[in-house]
Amino acid sequence: MRYHRIPNETIRRLPIYLRGLLFSSEQGQQSISSHDLADFVRINSWQIRKDFSYFGGFGTPGIGYNVEKLIKEIKRILKLDVLRKAALVGVGNLGSAILAYPGFKMYGFDIAAAFDINPKKIGRKINNIVIEKASRLPTLKKRGINLAIVAVPRDAAQQIASALVKAGVKGILNFSPCYIAVPKKVKVITIDIAMDLARLPYYMPAG
Ligand code: NAD
Repeated sequence: MRYHRIPNETIRRLPIYLRGLLFSSEQGQQSISSHDLADFVRINSWQIRKDFSYFGGFGTPGIGYNVEKLIKEIKRILKLDVLRKAALVGVGNLGSAILAYPGFKMYGFDIAAAFDINPKKIGRKINNIVIEKASRLPTLKKRGINLAIVAVPRDAAQQIASALVKAGVKGILNFSPCYIAVPKKVKVITIDIAMDLARLPYYMPAG
């Protein structure tokens, strides 16, 4: 079954619910009420019920939601129900931390390749991944990797994004602080901690 009408805001919250549900599952919980999930993820229970109603609900009055069933369904909607191999480009301060982070696995992501242009880094291993020269990006297609994380300096980001698209990449998580242009069929999500920091003082109390 496909879900065509799930609003983007709901899709944005689904990974947050998934994180809460995965934690509940680890704790051995078989069911969870929308109120308990709300307490855990800090999202209103009415919002949770509304979000879940877009794909059938799955709640049983008095019992709550079946944790495993909901995990399975959310993963299916987010297309996280298959193992996804990802490539990292730029193994500097940020890229090295990303490569060493074990937390992507529980969402089905496996960083299977890493690339850089610094000859001193090429051939080195982080978390069992050998850093390859960036000129090997065209090998991604035949390795079944269509998702990439970009952590190169701003002035290299567009060139890398274009090379990734040419290599068959369909989704890019961009950490470089700039807009990158890609064809419409490719999805880019840019993450910029500085942008989030820049709006934080506005919401802080004075003094
Ligand atoms: P860094 O200088 O430590 O690492 C950059 C790495 O990219 C280096 O290893 C370099 O050799 C490699 N590189 C450069 N050109 C390349 C190319 N054409 N192909 C492949 N590799 C290439 O920088 P950093 O601190 O790790 O930051 C990386 C990027 O992430 C920067 O654009 C930075 O502004 C950004 N950043 C973003 C956030 C955020 O919140 N999004 C936070 C910190 C840094």
